Amino acid sequence: MVQTLLNKILPPIAVLTCIDARLVGVLEEKLQLPPKSFYMLKTAGAAVLEESGEIMFSLLLATRVVQCRTILVIGHTDCAFAALSTGKLKHNLQQFLPEGRLEHIFSVVGDEAAITLATAERIRNSPLIPEEVAIHPLLFDLNEGSLKYLSLVRA
Ligand SMILES: [Zn+2]
Repeated sequence: MVQTLLNKILPPIAVLTCIDARLVGVLEEKLQLPPKSFYMLKTAGAAVLEESGEIMFSLLLATRVVQCRTILVIGHTDCAFAALSTGKLKHNLQQFLPEGRLEHIFSVVGDEAAITLATAERIRNSPLIPEEVAIHPLLFDLNEGSLKYLSLVRA
């Protein structure tokens, strides 16, 4: 199903994924997108934390200036960001951030799929992104090397 989707997508497209080093090169190969046909954006956990922050501004440019008509939001298994949302490391990070900032960052708590879906929904609901842009949430399985479609945010 994912391959069928990828085959149908017309470039240019925007890809938002995690900063995880294990994805570098692997994901590009898996997507089989022609070189120079996609805009790759990366954040920890492929999460969008600010509704008008740098990532949303980049997506605004990608869709309204470069005319990307598809955004792939790609989370992955064994993601440190998802683990942080409930784990001990979260507590360790508190000391480095202003009051309340960590709670804001982890306003979406859950596994990789939940975070990816929440990100896709945030992008979908943003007035910055044209209605006609398709947003597809995907999960990359690091062990299997496979992409799974999570769900259609809006038909
Ligand atoms: Zn990750």
